[in-house]
Amino acid sequence: MDRNEALFDRAQESIPGGVNSPVRAFKSVGGVPPFIKKALGPHLYDEEGKKYIDYVGSWGPMILGHNNPAVIQTVKEAVDNGLSFGAPTQGEVLIAEEIKKIIPSIDEVRLVSSGTEAGMSAIRLARGYTGRNKIIKFEGCYHGHSDALLVKAGSGLLTFGTPSSAGVPADVTKDTIVLEYNNCDMLEETFEKEGEQIACVIVEAIAGNMNMVPATREFITKMRELTAKHGTVMIVDEVMTGFRVALHGAQSLYGVTPDLTMFGKVIGGGMPVAAFGGKKEIMDCIAPLGPVYQAGTLSGNPVAVACGLATLKAIQEPGFYDRLSIQTAKLISGLVQIAKEEGVAFSGQCTGGMFGIYFRPTCPASFKEVMECDTEKFKTFFHAMLDNGVYLAPSTFEAGFVSITHDDSVLNKTFEAARKAFKEVRKVHG
Ligand SMILES: *Cc1c(COP(=O)(O)O)cnc(C)c1O
Repeated sequence: MDRNEALFDRAQESIPGGVNSPVRAFKSVGGVPPFIKKALGPHLYDEEGKKYIDYVGSWGPMILGHNNPAVIQTVKEAVDNGLSFGAPTQGEVLIAEEIKKIIPSIDEVRLVSSGTEAGMSAIRLARGYTGRNKIIKFEGCYHGHSDALLVKAGSGLLTFGTPSSAGVPADVTKDTIVLEYNNCDMLEETFEKEGEQIACVIVEAIAGNMNMVPATREFITKMRELTAKHGTVMIVDEVMTGFRVALHGAQSLYGVTPDLTMFGKVIGGGMPVAAFGGKKEIMDCIAPLGPVYQAGTLSGNPVAVACGLATLKAIQEPGFYDRLSIQTAKLISGLVQIAKEEGVAFSGQCTGGMFGIYFRPTCPASFKEVMECDTEKFKTFFHAMLDNGVYLAPSTFEAGFVSITHDDSVLNKTFEAARKAFKEVRKVHG
């Protein structure tokens, strides 16, 4: 038995399914997940010393590549000052100012430790601010695993073939209205009927938890119009897209100003930092200023904040997003070209450093079209890529990520692996 397999067996003796987050268990693709020992730049190294080109990037945070020297140095210096104080620190002020500077829709921002917390808190705040209970979310969008939001939530849930989770009482989700993504008519009808009772709409402007599906401009514009008209809080979940699809986030690409925005992933640069923020009038409803309670023992942790701040500084280097976008676009056009040459029905798209690849002839525009992707072909492709040293997200329902360290030589190695993998797909599935 090899070392990854032995560790996975051992893990399953003391951790449910051997993992601390379900998709890591490779259930939808089968096989044994490599146990990662270390990482550098675009590469991961497993416990057996095998090297992989990484297109997961810790599910988004590692936009600078792994072990960026400036970030690591900053974190080491922060560690020397102590790990946690549970008291205000200068770093929290600096990162809040930095976020406000980059994202114009943010007047005030509060730090939390995960995207889940950001979503849960933003919803509570929207309800507290409006005095309304109902919320709208969209099929295939994931906003963390808090109870009210765990309905048709994409991502790991899709991987496991369950639209929603057990253990969530119907009472808790009875005020959660789930609508079709990119369906303007449905949104309009819902607002006509019950607009005055809806506290908030929460959306991924570029959905990344049902593979990648960008919203149409019409959908986001309509949402902004309807929410403004009915006094409903518009929450854009940029936990994945923030500082990822563009420096100023997905909201900048759609020219929309949300009332609240959630951040996570890149904002912590690989450490547990997330945030929610937006209009002062709404944010001032949070304790200690207002009646909406929200708190966290490790919120704004000094080491995590130092890591996030160093990351936010690095991504503002001139030309960073141009370079990142060019490399990601090269990756996608290369893969699409090779698939075509090998006779495999395949498509792909990207924005900034985020991409989607699909085993279907054209890019999906809806949840339903995502469900038409060929999961069997993906499985074969995934394992062939892994065998050839390329680490993709182990599910056909996840978006992928490129870092600034994915240079041409890394892309070319990816293409060599992809040619073999597409040949394998053709051989196995015809
Ligand atoms: C990852 C993600 C979350 C949840 O963040 P966690 O830090 O995993 O709790 C929420 N929303 C979106 C869009 C995400 O991609």
